[in-house]
Parts: sequence; C-alpha cells; structure tokens
Amino acid sequence: MTIKVAPHIADLVPYPPGKPLEELEREYGITGSIKLASNENALGPSPRAVAAIAAALSNLHRYPDGSCYYLGQALACRLEVDPRRLVFGNGSNEIIGLLAAAFLSAGDEVLTSHPTFLVYQNVVQAQGGINRVVPLTGMRHDLAAMAGQVNDRTRMIFLDNPNNPTGTVFTTAEFEDFLARLPARVIVVLDEAYVDFVEPELRLDARRYLDGEVPVVALRTFSKAYGLAGLRVGYGLMHEDLASYLHRVRQPFNVNSPAQIGALAALEDEEHYRQTLETTWREKERLRQALAKLGCLTFASQANFFLIDVGGDGKVLYEHLLRQGVIVRPMQAYGYPRYIRITPGRPEENDRFLRSLEQSLKELAYGR
Ligand SMILES: *Cc1c(COP(=O)(O)O)cnc(C)c1O
Repeated sequence: MTIKVAPHIADLVPYPPGKPLEELEREYGITGSIKLASNENALGPSPRAVAAIAAALSNLHRYPDGSCYYLGQALACRLEVDPRRLVFGNGSNEIIGLLAAAFLSAGDEVLTSHPTFLVYQNVVQAQGGINRVVPLTGMRHDLAAMAGQVNDRTRMIFLDNPNNPTGTVFTTAEFEDFLARLPARVIVVLDEAYVDFVEPELRLDARRYLDGEVPVVALRTFSKAYGLAGLRVGYGLMHEDLASYLHRVRQPFNVNSPAQIGALAALEDEEHYRQTLETTWREKERLRQALAKLGCLTFASQANFFLIDVGGDGKVLYEHLLRQGVIVRPMQAYGYPRYIRITPGRPEENDRFLRSLEQSLKELAYGR
C-alpha cells in the first residue's frame, strides 16, 4: 500500500505486544502459568470493585459520566485538593498522551531518562517532539545531568518516581534542587504509578509543587496498588489551568463507566489496599533473601517489582522459565541483558518461581 506517513510516525516502534496468556500456554503446552512480569497486583482486584461493577452492568447502554464526578469528588477529598485539579484518563498512559497533545509542538524537546518507562518517548515522537535521553546514574534518575541538558527548546521532562524498571526514588531535597534549576516554561511530569509502595518517609508530596513557577503534573493510577490494570483508570494532579487544557484535547467519554465505578469502590476498600502493600513488602523481602542464596544479585526497590542480575543472558532464562509456566520480564529492551524484572506474586507463586529459577540456573549453568 502506498500511503504517505510522516517519518516520525513511520519510525515509531510499537509497544511489544505480549501474547495472551492462553496463547502462550497453548504454544508451550503448559497450564496454570504464573505471571510475575507486569507489575500487576498479586492479590487481584478489590472484591468491592468487582461487586460494584457487577451491580452496575445493566447500565452499559448509557454513556459514562464524562466528568468522572463521583470519582473526582472522592479522590479530591482523599487528597485534600480541589477536584478541578484532577484529570482522569483511560489509564495514566492516556494522560501522558494528553500532556503531549496539549503542550508539545513539532520540534519541542523532551527530557527522559534511560532506561525508564518506554511509553514517554513513543508519545513524544508521535507528537513530533524530539527526545533527549539522559542515562541513569547508579540506577537513579540523574537529575543534575538532566537539568544540565535543558535548553531553549526544552518543554517537558518525564520522571517516574519510583523509576520503572529500577525501582529507585529521589528525595524531596533532590527534587526541589532540580526544580530550582529549571526555567518556568518547562512542565515536569512526575509519574507516581508506584507511589503507594514507597516507604512513607521517602515519599514526595507532589501537591506542594502544583502551583510552583515550574509546573509539576503528578500522575497516579489504579492499575497497580488498586489492582485494576484491566479497567484502565489513572489521573493527573495539576494546576487547574493545565487541567483545563487537557480537558480540551481529551475525548468526552475517555473513562468508561465500569472503570469509574470500580475505581471508586477500590478507593474505599482500605483492607484490600493495606493487604496489597503488606504482601508486596513481605514477599519482596523474602524473595530477595532467597535469591541471594541462589547467588543472584538483586536491587533494592521502592516499587512492587525489582531487578535481578541472573548472571547470564536474561532473555534465555526468560524463555527457560516460560517453558515451566513462569512468566517474568526480560530486560534487554531496557539495556540490561543480564537482568530480569519480577513482580512478587502470592506466596505460593513466589515459591514456584524460586523452584523454577533454581532449576533453570542449574540447567543453564549461570553463575557469577
Ligand atoms: C504501570 C505504569 C503506569 C500505569 O499506567 P496505566 O496506564 O495507568 O495502567 C504508569 N507509569 C509507569 C512508569 C508504569 O510502570
């Protein structure tokens, strides 16, 4: 087909589409596989969210509330912010796209780290923006180096805190020093997808920076701690002027009604939330100790995932584990060929992962 497309679109690399679990199982002749690859909630969705959605299904013929009124009220109350500062999206990924659509013009530059969440650079490129990439230092965002890369064309900076895939965080003091070095035309996007898992004393309070000279937009999601990745709900917290621009570019019904209802119920399910954090921290620690005994180096993380240096080719190990029905994330696409990333599952799943890993490491004769 001869269709004309701009080079910046033709050059985009689609997000690697993982096969459905059922297809993988059929292909590899396995059943009952466990997925520790995508930073999802090991405990599943909040049962209260599931019940609330089930009870509302007979209203599916109605368009959703385009303003996300009830979810917005509940969240604004929880966060102690004006609801006009919240913009909801079809996952926080949509907000990333809306920010680019609203604030980037062709030729604008955007700073991101490497490795970090792969979505930022794709969205920038799709918008005709130019990515400038600053390597992590010691697995952490190098805020000083990033501030040093800012020039007249820099328009936006994406920072995930904790960073995916390394799980590292920066401190309040580091962030404030960084902001102080930026010109006011830059928007800082602080992606807090994993903020729930961060130890309280290490958490930034993004609300303090929304009205600063350099505007900060915080992104949060119901996909991780709230266990609703399949529903697709996330939001941005920002100055209401910025919010008003995102509302101009978003579709009127961008968050579907089950998503609004489920997110609201999950927000009120404090028991599920608490159990999620407890299980994550307990299992993360247990896994790290067990992995050390297997001779694997692990990296401390403030998120619900962490990196493992497997002492050999991570992609080969990934395939080896897959044949045993254990799905992890290889890291070569992020520039870490010897690493895998795992999200702790439930205790019995983690035991199975450890048994399979031990077996695989032996068979592959990996070692450090
Ligand atoms: C998982 C993740 C998100 C969440 O995206 P949703 O679209 O809300 O599911 C956002 N940012 C990072 C860095 C993530 O890893």
